[in-house]
Amino acid sequence: MQSLEPYTAGEQPKDKKYIKLNTNENPYEPTPALQDALKNARSLRLYPDPLAAEFCEAAGKANGLPADHVFAGNGSDEVLALAFKAFFDSPVLFADITYSFYPVFCEFFKIEFLLVPLRDDFTLDAAGFLKPNGGVAIANPNAPTGITLELKELQTILDYNLARKRVVLIDEAYVAFGAESAAKLIPQYPNLVVVRTLSKSHALAGMRLGYALAQPHLIEGLRMAKDSFNSYPVDSLAQAAGTAALRDAAYYEGVLSRVVDTRTWFVRALTEMGFRVLPSKTNFVFAGHDRIKAAELFKRLRDRGVLVRYFDAPRVRDFLRITIGTDEDMQKVAAILQEILS
Ligand code: PMP
Repeated sequence: MQSLEPYTAGEQPKDKKYIKLNTNENPYEPTPALQDALKNARSLRLYPDPLAAEFCEAAGKANGLPADHVFAGNGSDEVLALAFKAFFDSPVLFADITYSFYPVFCEFFKIEFLLVPLRDDFTLDAAGFLKPNGGVAIANPNAPTGITLELKELQTILDYNLARKRVVLIDEAYVAFGAESAAKLIPQYPNLVVVRTLSKSHALAGMRLGYALAQPHLIEGLRMAKDSFNSYPVDSLAQAAGTAALRDAAYYEGVLSRVVDTRTWFVRALTEMGFRVLPSKTNFVFAGHDRIKAAELFKRLRDRGVLVRYFDAPRVRDFLRITIGTDEDMQKVAAILQEILS
């Protein structure tokens, strides 16, 4: 049997209490409206709504699109996997530094891929994507760098691929933390799929809920791919929780702006300590220091109860990815970093 190189998720250790900044979870609780939503959810005796109608309505509305432009899945990882299966042929194009699940999907579905190098400053060069392909996947903002591609540049990639009837998949896991969504381009582009998650922006990582936005013919393609595994999009509790969360935009505006304010403060603190910090529009920062190796810093932070993410891979091994937590946590982390560096 072929052995696959699996995706490695960030650790969830239980040995002691950490300041946990390694998997880009939201530090705040989901909306209190969730309590009632879960109490009033469809009885678990029954199968879930196979169309996830209320959820799709709420997700569509939150993005200015009708419900038939929405497909729900168990976390955006599942939605991305189904999109790779439904829409992509060899070779798929994605950046050499991006979400490390994309090559895993390719291996699993036996699709070849070509890596498009980011520039030296880690920005994405749209021109690199203007070549014959079997599909394009772009995380925007990108991970783990946090860097955003402007929609105007994205449109050059969409136009090129529209003429060739190739699907462009935009993974917007982090878009809510200050970037501009490509969802508004969907009416114009029958080849665009935007994938979102409620894990980060809506503090629902434990619920496993994500969705795709696209024109109905692509939504149908995702549904057909999904039905070959399991014909229920997501369970009844996830449908109820997700609907309630998407309807409470006011609560989440508060949460998002707190995270963004804390990020601004933390980036300044890091910069003053001499870190190189890439410009982030996400709920994490990607930062490195030339006086201490990132691998060493990772260990020393871990010893002091701070968990961050280190990727031992070319071009990124000089950086740590640090999730933005509460103000209190980030102040503690800044003080610990200061101590380590002094
Ligand atoms: N896309 C990107 C770029 C991510 O970083 C993540 C989180 N690991 C995901 C998708 C998946 O998120 P989830 O499955 O929790 O929706």
